[in-house]
Order: sequence, then structure tokens, then C-alpha cells
Amino acid sequence: MLFDPYKRKINYLRISVTDRCNLRCRYCMPEEGIPLIPHDEMLRYEEILRIVRVFSEEGISKVRLTGGEPLIRKGLVDFVAKLSQIEGIEDLSLTTNGILLKDFAEGLKEAGLKRINISLDSLKRERFYQITRRDDFERVWAGIEEAMRVGLAPIKINMVAIRGVNDDEIEPLARLTLRFPLTIRYIEYMPSGNGEEWKENDILTIPQIKNRLGNMGQLIPVPSDQWDGPAKRFRIEGAIGEIGLIGPVSSHFCEDCNRLRLTPDGKIRTCLFSDEEIDVKELLRKGGRDRDLKDRLLLALRTKPEKHHINTYSFRKCQRNMSAIGG
Ligand code: SAM
Repeated sequence: MLFDPYKRKINYLRISVTDRCNLRCRYCMPEEGIPLIPHDEMLRYEEILRIVRVFSEEGISKVRLTGGEPLIRKGLVDFVAKLSQIEGIEDLSLTTNGILLKDFAEGLKEAGLKRINISLDSLKRERFYQITRRDDFERVWAGIEEAMRVGLAPIKINMVAIRGVNDDEIEPLARLTLRFPLTIRYIEYMPSGNGEEWKENDILTIPQIKNRLGNMGQLIPVPSDQWDGPAKRFRIEGAIGEIGLIGPVSSHFCEDCNRLRLTPDGKIRTCLFSDEEIDVKELLRKGGRDRDLKDRLLLALRTKPEKHHINTYSFRKCQRNMSAIGG
């Protein structure tokens, strides 16, 4: 088992397989001019598989694939099939914007993907276009339907509510849980993107969101399970789906943080908001041994910060764009 100096058990690796994305969400990135990682700088699938195999021997048991948009990287389904075979990986999930999901959901399920998170900030086609700069709402919804049809479960829909942008859709999204077996998760808007300027006043905090949801009906707490991470779970009375609340800004949950991140170009990041990175790609490409990889993992653990510094005077936005870290 892996523990960091703050006695947190670290068992979760979030892997960004690409920094490319087929959306341009305003709060995440600009329309153009984002520096891209050159292809030969990106970890090859075999390299990622080796890292996961070695890390799983030390205690990493949970892996999430993200990006950029993971489904635009060629060969992802075969890669998922290989990842799911690694002994010790008990939980394998994916975060996607859902645009390509209709084509891939069945293959992903057969390849061993257990769970899926789909980002969706609006149920209105025109609003979706305004936020993402792409007219793809219908494709995302078709992807969600396909994920339900093939039996990926749970399916979590992640919404970032931004004041004056989509905060009127908190209730309509929650209402989906009355009809569909979906978990709607509200995530506080964080100062992490390179998109439009983040202002504290734009955040809808989790207490504010919970208050509004409470007006829709009784919110019944659902006990958390070992894969929940920082989400607090609820069910609206009578609903078949669930609500999840995640407040990285208002409710500092760093003391329960169990994760490390691997960037597309092979750097381990110990916190979304820390620019400290530990290289593993160079090590692999210079013939590093498994033992050396394990040492890098242990170094990452030793340097994992106790907490992020959002809301404090020492907070600095991270240098990399979210798409190049892995959201
Ligand atoms: N393309 C995939 C997707 O759309 O889910 C994975 C990458 S995306 C960066 C992962 C998640 O990060 C999305 O749910 C997105 O809404 C979220 N995100 C990006 N910038 C954010 C911010 N400033 N605050 C909160 N969440 C953010």
C-alpha cells in the first residue's frame, strides 16, 4: 500500500492520454493558439501500460482515463482492453465529453471499462454551443443513451455550474435522475483553465447548489462506497438516479485526496494545482528499470502537497492548461 507523508492512502492514477480535444469549452481553453504536445513527446500506449503495471504492484488499484478528449486518441478501445487485464487494477473508468461515445460505448464495455463520466454543462443545444463553441449537443446525448443501452454503470454526468452562464440548468439536470439511471454531479468551477478569466463570483458553491436541489424534494443521503472519491451522494426522493456534489473550492477535501496524475507527456503530477512534476518518460526512454519507475512513484508520494491553495494569497494558477494535465 502507498501512503504519503500526510498518511493519505494513494491508490488512484488519473491518466491523460492526449491533450487534444474536440471541444473548446470557454472556461477551459481558448478557441485557438493552445500549444500542443508533439506526438513523439506523448507516451505510447505500451509505455503507459508498463507504468500502470509497475505502479499497480505498489498499490495503485484505480485508474481513470481522461484528456483532452480521450476518445479522439486512436486505438483507445484496444488500450482499455489491455489495461483492464492488468492484475491489481480493480477499477477502470473514463471521463469523456461524450461526442464520440455512440460509436465507442459498446466496444469500451466489452474491453472491460466499468464506469464512465460524461461532461455536460447544458441540456439546451444553443447554450451547449455557446459554452463549448461546437454544435454537438445531440451527439453527446446520443452517446449518453448508448452508454445506458450497453449497460455501462454507473454513468455520471458532470456539470460545472457557472453563474449567469448555465446556473438555471441545475434543476433541469437534476430532474433527469427522476427518469434515468444517471448520477448528476455538480462540480464547483475552479481557477484551473486557460479559458475566459475565472472570477470567484462566478462560482456556484456546493452549499448553494444543495440548497436549490433541496427545494425540489427531500435529498436522501446515499452511503458512499470505496470508489466515490470526494463526491457526497444523494438521491431526490422517488428518483432512480443520484446526485453527486463535489466542492473542491468551498470544501477543501485535500485531506482525503488519494490520487496522482500522469500527463500525456509522461510527468507525474501530485496535485492539479501544483506545477511540481516528476518525469517518467525520459526514464522509460533511456532504459530505466522497473525499480527506477517505482522510485519515481515514491518520490511523487513524498512530494505530494498537503493541500491546494485556492482562496489563499499564495494561490497561483497552474502553468499547464487543464487539457494538458487531465481533468
Ligand atoms: N474531455 C473530457 C471531458 O470533457 O470530460 C475530459 C477532460 S475535461 C478537462 C474534464 C473535466 O474537467 C470536464 O468535466 C470539465 O468540465 C472539467 N473542467 C475543465 N475546466 C474546469 C474548471 N475550470 N472548473 C471545473 N471543472 C473544469
